[in-house]
This record gives sequence, C-alpha cells and structure tokens, in this order.
Amino acid sequence: MKNIGKEIGDELASHHWNENYRQLIKEAFNDPDVQSLITTHRDELTNEDLKRSASKVYEFFTIKNQLKRGEATLAPGYEPKLNVVNHTLEVAYVPSQQLMAEQKIAQLHARVKLLNLPKSLRQASLADFEVAGREAAASAAADFVQQYLADPKKFHQGLYLSGNFGVGKTYLLAAIANKLAAENIISMLVHFPSFAVKLKNSIGTSQNTPLIETVKKVPILMLDDIGADQLSSWIRDDILGVILQYRMQEQLATFFSSNFSQQQLLQEYLTVNNRGEAEPLKAQRIMERIRYLSRETIMIGKNRRNQ
Ligand code: ADP
Ligand code: MG
Repeated sequence: MKNIGKEIGDELASHHWNENYRQLIKEAFNDPDVQSLITTHRDELTNEDLKRSASKVYEFFTIKNQLKRGEATLAPGYEPKLNVVNHTLEVAYVPSQQLMAEQKIAQLHARVKLLNLPKSLRQASLADFEVAGREAAASAAADFVQQYLADPKKFHQGLYLSGNFGVGKTYLLAAIANKLAAENIISMLVHFPSFAVKLKNSIGTSQNTPLIETVKKVPILMLDDIGADQLSSWIRDDILGVILQYRMQEQLATFFSSNFSQQQLLQEYLTVNNRGEAEPLKAQRIMERIRYLSRETIMIGKNRRNQ
C-alpha cells in the first residue's frame, strides 16, 4: 500500500516552516492511526484536504504521544480521536477507558449513601460474603435482591439482621446495597445512633429537615445498629416512628441491623426512654412497624473485627 502520510509529509515539509515543525508534521502523518484513517477515507480526502488538516494531525499526534509517555494533557482522562468531518480531519476528545471506569465507580457510589459509616463498606459484596454459619442471612439477602429486582415497585419486606457484634451485619447490608446499586437502585445506610445524635444536636432547627426527608423517601433504607444507644421519646416517636410510618404507607423496603433480637429491642430499647419512663404502648406501635417492614434473621458466628 502506498504510504500516503509520507507523501503528504514530504510535500508539507517543503513549505517554509521551521525545520522542527516540518519534521514533526512528517512524523505525525506517518503515525499508524493517522495512516489507517487516511487510507479508509482516501476517496473523501484530496491532497489539498490533507494539507489543510496538517495542524489537526499534528495535534492528534502530539496529545497521543503525551498520553503514551504518561504526561499530563489539557483534558485529563480524555483521549484524542481523529475523524473525517466534511473533507477535513478533526480531533475529538473521548473519555479514556480509565476515565469511563472511574465514572462508573463514581455512579455506583452515588447510589449508595453512607451516613456515618466507613467508606470501606463500598467494597462489601455478596460474592465475597463468607456464608459459613450465616446461611439463613446469606440466602435471605440473595432472595431479597432477586425479588426486589424482579419487581421494584412492589412492597418487599427487608431484613432485620440480629446478632452479636462483629458477625457481619453491617457488611451484609452494604453488600446488598452495592449489589442493588449495580442495577441502578438507590440505597441509604444510616448508622442509627449517629443519626439520632445529629438530630438531637439540631433540635428546634430545620437544619436536618432535608436529611430526614431523604431518609424517609429513599427507595432502600437500612438503619444500622438500632438499639445501640439510649433512645429518647422524641427520637422514637417523632423521628423513627414517623419515618417507619411513611415507609409502610409508601411500601418502601427497609432494613435493620441490631445486636438485639426484635423481642429484646422492644423490651430493652423501645419501651424505656432515656429518662427511665416505661412507655410500652408507644414501644409496641414502633415494633409493629418494624415487624411489618422487616423479617428477622439471626446471624451467628465469630467476631470478625480486628482480624
Ligand atoms: P457487625 O455489623 O455485625 O458488628 P461488621 O459487618 O462490622 O459486623 O463486620 C465486622 C468485620 O468483619 C468487618 O471488618 C467486616 O468487613 C468483616 N466481615 C464481616 N463479614 C464478612 C464476610 N462475610 N467476609 C469478609 N469480611 C467480613
Ligand atoms: Mg455493625
């Protein structure tokens, strides 16, 4: 095959440009990508067209090589692509594989909101979840994901994961959320004791109203570590109660994790408020909502923390 680049390069090289530039233009036209594009579009491109495109070929070649050498370019993450447009060569900048991969991860992360929980949970996956001793929880999680994805508009009972510290309750919740994120479903994992503190600190202001609205309305809500703090009547009835009531009405999937079983949660957490007053009826109302929204699954196993 005729070396078109060389021909044009030689001709351009005879112009009154500085020697350096001439040499670079020549090299640019000899680039294999440039060669192959010109060959493919030879019918549409006269020698005049190619000469007019010299600066574009040069731009393409320069940026391509800057990237190859690992140097910073003007548009980080984008790669030059040479195209034929209206009988001239034009450079377009397209996202690199790496940038697209980064964008994909950023989109996944945006679909799992973490409130006061470690970022490491973004790595949690159902595939990596060690099942031994926790078969019931693992299969309940897999069933939920499958059923939810089959019909996201329908009501699906979430899980109430109970079990000792360190058995992987939070990990499993995050793994479910990450799996759903890959299917465009938005979740929010809320460390419940921290959420309660945050709200108490802004009591009487509307500072956290948008946050409460998000927690109420997010398609998948996971309240992590419920029962780990001392509950005030206000958090129980006006925050938790209102959130759960809304989610029942709107049929939104809701998960819980707790060191307490549901029965213990009722007696040891919901019934007696932080002033020591017993409010069994109010506690019962909350518990009914929790039971409606979630199915209790007990997780047993060794403490996996710090190993
Ligand atoms: P819990 O919420 O029940 O207290 P965590 O979910 O925080 O427990 O898990 C405790 C530790 O064990 C964490 O560091 C977590 O990453 C790890 N872990 C839990 N479950 C698994 C698992 N199935 N496979 C790998 N690591 C796990
Ligand atoms: Mg936890």
